[in-house]
Amino acid sequence: MSEPQPISESPLVTVSGLRKQYGDFTAVDGIDLDVPPGQVFGVLGPNGAGKTTTMRMITGLIEPTSGTITIDGFDLEDDTVDAKKITGFIPDRPYVYEKLTAFEYLRFIGGLYHMRRAETADRIDELLTLFELREFSSSLIESFSHGMKQRLVFAGAMLPEPRLLVIDEPMVGLDPKGHHLVKRLFRQLVEQQEMSILLSTHTLEVAEEVCDQIVIINHGRIVARGTLGQLQLESGETDGNLEKVFLRLTKQSEEERHRDVARRFGDEPGEQAS
Ligand code: ATP
Repeated sequence: MSEPQPISESPLVTVSGLRKQYGDFTAVDGIDLDVPPGQVFGVLGPNGAGKTTTMRMITGLIEPTSGTITIDGFDLEDDTVDAKKITGFIPDRPYVYEKLTAFEYLRFIGGLYHMRRAETADRIDELLTLFELREFSSSLIESFSHGMKQRLVFAGAMLPEPRLLVIDEPMVGLDPKGHHLVKRLFRQLVEQQEMSILLSTHTLEVAEEVCDQIVIINHGRIVARGTLGQLQLESGETDGNLEKVFLRLTKQSEEERHRDVARRFGDEPGEQAS
């Protein structure tokens, strides 16, 4: 994990009291987050913790039940288009139009962002080269492997040069070379272009290698946040890698949750054993 940059500017993303309710079930239960510019910010958590739901709310794909999200000063609810214009999203599965060629797909994305055609063509060429897809520029996407589609989605998300990239499980479907490319790219984007990257992942060595800060979510709540060093201290695993730290912190949060439930039921009149 790299050393965090000094935080001199206001956060690029501010999430406050974010909640998502599905009927009686609370998927996200009051999350507060500040994502500084120029940092890779990791969101970790066990299956079903609420990571994807949180990421999708931040990209405006699903509406929160309550809470606010601000991106570069734009309130996602009131200034939706302005907030979305500067946000790129890479979901865990590559949703692409199979009957388009790689070039057509990227030009279509450029059109959505009102990019000029000439400017788009140069940028598309640059991105297809970066993601090693240039020789497949005129091939239909339906002929691509999963990893190639995922790389194309990366290119599409980066095309309009967003200030914020939100990435759900970046490594799914990528081969080791793709892993290496993407990890190097993340660091370049935040260090050279002052972008912010918010990524959720189960691949802890990736988080350990590229994230400046990490939050751990469990049962829709943040149970720990900080740099790897801070999380090591908090977990008591001062020499541990992120996997050890993660397992310890999620176990602690489960134990606290069980104690909470026991306390609540124990406090209920009539619930105590007679
Ligand atoms: P994973 O690591 O397994 O991808 P996650 O942390 O991304 O998990 P979410 O996909 O955010 O978790 O889901 C959080 C909880 O919300 C889960 O219990 C899930 O079943 C529930 N959930 C998500 N979407 C819906 C929905 N549309 N309707 C009802 N429940 C939902």
